Amino acid sequence: MEHLTPMMKQYIEQKNQHPDCILFFRLGDFYEMFFEDAVLAARELEIALTGRDCGLEDRAPMCGVPYHAADNYISKLIDKGYKVAICEQVEDPAAAKGIVKREVIKIITPGTVIDPAMLKEKENNYILAALFHEDCIGISYADISTGDSRTTEFMGVSVFSNFLNEVVKINPREVIINQDTYSDKSIAAEISNLCGRAYITKFDPWAFKTDYGAQTLKNHYQLLSLEGLGLQDHPFSIGASGALLTYLEQTHKKSIHHLHKIQYYHTEDFMVLDKTTRKNLELTETMRDRDRKGSLLWVLDKTNTAMGARLLKQWIEEPLTKSIDIQHRLEAVDGLKADLLVREELKEQLRETYDLERLVGRISYGNANGRDLIWLKSSLSRMPCIKNLLGAFSSKALMEINDHLDNHREVIQIIEDAIVEDPPISLKDGGIIKETYHPEIFSLREAITKGKSWIVNLENEERQKTGIKSLKIGYNKVFGYYIEITKSNLNLVPSHYIRKQTLANAERYITPELKEIESKILGAEERITELEYQIFTEVREKVSMFTESVQKTAKAIAALDVYISFADVSDRQNYTKPVVNEGHLIHIQSGRHPVVEKMMSESYFIPNDTLLDCKDNRFTILTGPNMAGKSTYMRQVALIVLMAQIGCFVPAERAVIGITDRIFTRVGASDDLAQGQSTFMVEMSELANIIHTATSKSLILLDEIGRGTSTYDGLSIAWAVVEYISSVKHLGARTLFATHYHELTELEGLLEGVKNYCIAVKEKGDDIIFLRKIIRGGADQSYGIQVAKLAGVSEKIVNRAKEILHQLEANDINKRQKVSSVGEAEIAMAKDEQLDLFHYHSDKIISELLKIDVLNTTPLEAMNHLYRLFNMA
Ligand code: ADP
Repeated sequence: MEHLTPMMKQYIEQKNQHPDCILFFRLGDFYEMFFEDAVLAARELEIALTGRDCGLEDRAPMCGVPYHAADNYISKLIDKGYKVAICEQVEDPAAAKGIVKREVIKIITPGTVIDPAMLKEKENNYILAALFHEDCIGISYADISTGDSRTTEFMGVSVFSNFLNEVVKINPREVIINQDTYSDKSIAAEISNLCGRAYITKFDPWAFKTDYGAQTLKNHYQLLSLEGLGLQDHPFSIGASGALLTYLEQTHKKSIHHLHKIQYYHTEDFMVLDKTTRKNLELTETMRDRDRKGSLLWVLDKTNTAMGARLLKQWIEEPLTKSIDIQHRLEAVDGLKADLLVREELKEQLRETYDLERLVGRISYGNANGRDLIWLKSSLSRMPCIKNLLGAFSSKALMEINDHLDNHREVIQIIEDAIVEDPPISLKDGGIIKETYHPEIFSLREAITKGKSWIVNLENEERQKTGIKSLKIGYNKVFGYYIEITKSNLNLVPSHYIRKQTLANAERYITPELKEIESKILGAEERITELEYQIFTEVREKVSMFTESVQKTAKAIAALDVYISFADVSDRQNYTKPVVNEGHLIHIQSGRHPVVEKMMSESYFIPNDTLLDCKDNRFTILTGPNMAGKSTYMRQVALIVLMAQIGCFVPAERAVIGITDRIFTRVGASDDLAQGQSTFMVEMSELANIIHTATSKSLILLDEIGRGTSTYDGLSIAWAVVEYISSVKHLGARTLFATHYHELTELEGLLEGVKNYCIAVKEKGDDIIFLRKIIRGGADQSYGIQVAKLAGVSEKIVNRAKEILHQLEANDINKRQKVSSVGEAEIAMAKDEQLDLFHYHSDKIISELLKIDVLNTTPLEAMNHLYRLFNMA
């Protein structure tokens, strides 16, 4: 250290305080990075790696980015999951004695970005703090770009899995956990496994202490007691929230005033969906390509504002479980659906409304520019019209929205008075404040305009005096104003002109008079930009006093936008209002799959009915060939239930939905194979999870449980699962179970609540036609070979498969070995020889054996028989 140059010493001191960040060290017009940071940043940002003398034998690796383009580079690093510390010069270099003082003024982390360029418009960017204490967990999370902040606690059974489900739902960009907890590798591994994109930050244990948290919360929200936040009985929420606030203040180096009052919520108020179910139901992205198109969100999102789009995503991810809340949402949608005209007018207004949440976040945080204020003004000026239109509705939710919308006349007036209509993006170049707002602005602008016309006059005068027609007055940053004379006229230059610069074709001069005017203009320009900046920050500060009420308006607009979106989709897609109640009955008439039906362009989606209750129809065993539509049907039921519980209309003719506390799915192959678990293992652990956590109010979808092992093992597991889940003594949950084990259909009549359904197919010669219709009863055939043929498996294989099937059936072992899918048809081919060896040949030998009259056989004849049978094998 002692050999380092003073500047490098300063660098190392700053870097040591922020070891987990890439340090952007301001040097003149650049942010420079050194040593390992430089090597890493050069690689990640694809910029040149150079070196700089640092006092040591070897030059320090170095790379840099221009300060005015830094945002772009920072956002790339954040996107790749790094943290960046911005170290600025904090004193004027001209006034500095020795080396300029530098300090880290803010730390940008994946969970704390506020710059719109680094955020996704239609997604929240959450940072979450989690406190683990014995058998309890507290979480607190916030989106600092919008000010949203919420907290909850987990206790009792399945604490950790409930916590993980919640983390998956929130999908945070950054998770803060106690340093000590982090050493428990399994917690850190589970979290990063579940949210691949989350950056895990280890934080000081003291920041998670309840006492400390209570004090931090009281200071932040300026409260005397935590009752104001409803947190007094939630020590783990307090601990997590305290850590979150402390971390935010440490990274931003200032208080984050625009965070809403943190809101406590009960997880029971929302449907629980685990990671597998969210993925399987393709709620916000498709399973295969992680694409928005093809997801439920894609179907339902007709929002017109970014706030609405974010809220819709949140609603889809957390369906409600209280029927009264659902009812209110449904009534709002009903009202809007019925009035197309008003809905269209409202949409028109929403389209002109900017992202109020993030605008006000930037204003309050102090990095909004003139345009942000103008956008805020123009958005808020839509409110009277929206309120007026909303006056037509009597639903409770819409009336509440109307109450929460404020016209914000005062805010509009403040901005209107001060800010010009089309301000520049930069705050440092002036041109933002109206001259009517401040007398000095007016006189300075006048001085500048006058000064400029003096210059024009002076130019004319000098032309006349000197007789040089081409004389002109110009300006550049280095010399200021100058008189330019071309080389051919140099003989006419008056003697009082002072030469300043020689060009190839001309000479540049100044005169005392010109310099006098210049100093007036430049002085005024400098003063005005300073004054405008100062006024602008004052105006911004004034506007930020209204943060809380603008946020309330923004929330109401977001909800209105979602309701309108639901109404629009319901209208267009012919959805109906479901009857939602606390009962157990799920009765859907002519239900459709919202996504599959929308994706189908040429054919027509065949609707199907569903009946599930807590009595005779708890458990549906669904059989039918591959491709018949079993998965589509099961997902359709889950999606209809989920849509009803988010308050949307549903794709059905009629639907009664008894509220569901959790939906579980075990559908199709999982991609955990890459993580070293076999399909069967994954299937069984998911099954175990379902059995441990489901309740009688849950909806369970199981697709081909037990397929990953031998036929008897699989069938036995499937059988036992049906017995357990269907039994009221154990679970009695409403379940749809698709299976290829036709043996299971024997359970109807044996087990209470079990009913067989199958998807009808029609045989046409050697082929089958899918009818896509669910009917009562079990399927008697798998039609695996026909499906294989449809899928394009070669005719040779298909024919051979038929031969084998006939042989198997002829030998009466068809029940065990019925070929049921394309994959199995091929496996059966491969096993061809084995089947002959062990079954076909042995069956022949047995039939020969049975022909022998053993009691009347001589030893010699017996030896001959034995020899013959031996040769047959
Ligand atoms: P399975 O699970 O029985 O193998 P899927 O549910 O995957 O079958 O359905 C196969 C295809 O059939 C789907 O991709 C879909 O295009 C179509 N399909 C399913 N159900 C219907 C329906 N009710 N109406 C029209 N097409 C359907």
